[in-house]
Amino acid sequence: MLQPLIYDIGAPGRIGVNLPPSDVPEAEMPVDLLREDLPLPEVGEVQVVRHFVKLSHLNYSIDKGLYPLGSCTMKYNPKINEDAARLPGLAQLHPLIEETGAQGALYLMHELQRWLGEISGFDAVSLTPAAGAQGEFAGILMIRNYHLDKGDGQRDIILVPNSAHGTNPATVTMAGMRVHELPSNEQGNVDLDALREACQGEMRDRIAGMMITVPSTLGLFESTILEVIDAVHDAGGLMYMDGANMNALMAVVKPGELGFDVMHYNLHKTFSTPHGGGGPGSGAVGVNEKLRDYLPGPIVDVVDEADESGAPLYGFVMPEKSIGRMKAFHGNFGMHLRAYAYIRVYGDSGIRDVTRYAVLNANYLRAKLMNTYKLPYPRYCGHELVLEGHFDDVEEVHALDISKRLMDYGFHPPTNYFPLIVPEALLIEPTETEVKEDLDEFVEAMEKIAEEARSEPDLLLNAPHTAPVRRLDEVLAVKQLVLCCAPALPAAGE
Ligand SMILES: *Cc1c(COP(=O)(O)O)cnc(C)c1O
Repeated sequence: MLQPLIYDIGAPGRIGVNLPPSDVPEAEMPVDLLREDLPLPEVGEVQVVRHFVKLSHLNYSIDKGLYPLGSCTMKYNPKINEDAARLPGLAQLHPLIEETGAQGALYLMHELQRWLGEISGFDAVSLTPAAGAQGEFAGILMIRNYHLDKGDGQRDIILVPNSAHGTNPATVTMAGMRVHELPSNEQGNVDLDALREACQGEMRDRIAGMMITVPSTLGLFESTILEVIDAVHDAGGLMYMDGANMNALMAVVKPGELGFDVMHYNLHKTFSTPHGGGGPGSGAVGVNEKLRDYLPGPIVDVVDEADESGAPLYGFVMPEKSIGRMKAFHGNFGMHLRAYAYIRVYGDSGIRDVTRYAVLNANYLRAKLMNTYKLPYPRYCGHELVLEGHFDDVEEVHALDISKRLMDYGFHPPTNYFPLIVPEALLIEPTETEVKEDLDEFVEAMEKIAEEARSEPDLLLNAPHTAPVRRLDEVLAVKQLVLCCAPALPAAGE
């Protein structure tokens, strides 16, 4: 049952606050700007609080339960991060304050740049991009300018595997370059023959680089990644790593050391800053020496060596050939603070444990579910796994039905129909913070659903049964948003 609108729960005369009697003279009201009538609900404080708390409970969140939305790394957001981001001296800092008055904040950003560089093996990092997709855009613009500076302006092709996240080809197009799609082979890796053909054939001199996600969006470690990197470098291209899946690599593999030239981090995925609902996120980018001068700015650097107090002076600098700014001011500083707190709390060995448990949890689910659901690539996975959400003996049941039914069991659905190259894909990412009992509960729900698909398929086809609303038209629901629950209000002056 949907809960009543707030407009339906009031009664005339109920009020939430008692204002003191006015001690200033009443002013004339601009009559022509006033509405004749303003039907706002009259409600007491208790009613308002209960109304919105009930609404908030209708929402599913990581604080309520497992959120196995593959590719998104919906990991638990430790509350200490929130404390750090809310420290008044940081939260209330004005973005236009003199740098000398913001040394603490600049120090934290500088440390975060350093740590992200250390974690991924890159020489320099810019924190400014607002999301992964913007980090990608920054990366591809850097690659473009690098080639332009070398007089290689004809290099306009970026190789992208067909398992890529949609933002990758979109980024390439936005940057004015062209996508050349590469097939995947039976193991789920990039097809090396197709790659070599592209790198050694007619296209060779037009290759600007390649974008690849490691582990891939299939949740698989690219086992021939060194050959891939060599082939592209040999053709004169640069390597972009989509770092959205760093949860499978942190403190174990450094992309910079593998040979990547540039990568974005999704601080709102790997580094536990909250996401969903459109942001704010943070898509920091790391680069090696080839691209250091092209980084988007401003970045934080030491602008004056240590004085007598021993503290160096930090300031914002624009790299020499910077592609420019991605965003107003200095990026999403609140996200930087949360990521800083996260890394600081875990430390080196803790970060390694994050990676290990993330990979262990995904492989646990894989091992438990591979006999119930089809596993398109039967090999160890990284931090997420892809299953096929359909059964040969019950044709009418699809991945979407399985996902909707999972909601009845109290779980957020996994990612559906992505990656595109797996039919009826269910991309499941448990993350490191789930304990075995919770994973077992998820497995049990998935097994029950597989049984129901055979014994009572309507249960799946009509799911969800317990959610506040039943099955929505997924296309209309995002195209015709119902954003206002108010009865139509008369316009001013009407
Ligand atoms: C999430 C994701 C992106 C885009 O990141 P945003 O922060 O959502 O813009 C890119 N690639 C992959 C593989 C992702 O999972």
